[in-house]
Amino acid sequence: MHRFFVDPECIRENSVSVGGSVARQAARVLRLRPGESVVLLDNTGWEYVVRLDSVSASRLEGAVEESRRGQGDPGIVLTLYQGVLKSDKLETALQKGTELGVSAFVPMVCRRSEARLTRGWGSAKYNRWRRILAEATEQSGRSLIPYLGPPMAWQQALAFAGGVRLMAWEGDPDERGSENGGARTGFKEAVQGNIERIRAEGVSLFVGPEGGFDADEVEEARAAGVEVVGLGRRILRGETAGLAMAAAIMYEAGELGG
Ligand code: SAH
Repeated sequence: MHRFFVDPECIRENSVSVGGSVARQAARVLRLRPGESVVLLDNTGWEYVVRLDSVSASRLEGAVEESRRGQGDPGIVLTLYQGVLKSDKLETALQKGTELGVSAFVPMVCRRSEARLTRGWGSAKYNRWRRILAEATEQSGRSLIPYLGPPMAWQQALAFAGGVRLMAWEGDPDERGSENGGARTGFKEAVQGNIERIRAEGVSLFVGPEGGFDADEVEEARAAGVEVVGLGRRILRGETAGLAMAAAIMYEAGELGG
């Protein structure tokens, strides 16, 4: 069944009336017919199975057959504090992260972040990113759109983040050859050792910008009680690191199939 986000006002008691792009898409692109059912979402965590009575490119009318709690929302709260990325890479992270079950994305400005990437958080781009999140939410069967925050400075993110906090750090260049590159916990050990706390309290992941975290940031994280983790012998791009960590945590939590 096709899933669409609509304004909450479109759903009145048991009857539904939807215009705008949803009606256009349902009529023109998907060619839905009266009698067919769709799922409407209002970003409250509920979903509404609606049988369509009339379909035109300007309006869908129908009746709610069933209201139910969304089935696809993640059972653990994972927040990804991601060093700011170029727009196309951020889009990849938002789309794939939503499919994997990330609850919140917070772009993070670090000392080595490129200043130009933090400009342009105007409404046009933000709206585009919100749309990517909503589409990935519909497509993946979630019913709550992940939160996308405005960029936070590293220090602010560090003070703000809750739950089990893990910072991905590739280690000293000199020591990189070794399994975990010195003074870091292996990511697998950190996740497996904390999985019950992750379930109960959630997890915050800090991933650096393309230039990586600087030594002070790593020290500040340690001083604040954040676990600094290594992701093995290869260097991953920022968006890859965040997605790989999210996928591995979801796997360990049974969220990629038990
Ligand atoms: N410019 C850096 C790499 C930055 S990669 C360098 O070459 O040294 C971007 C971010 O991804 C890093 O800040 C880190 O958070 C994460 N990351 C990538 N590969 C990693 C690894 N092997 N271990 C831990 N973190 C990694």
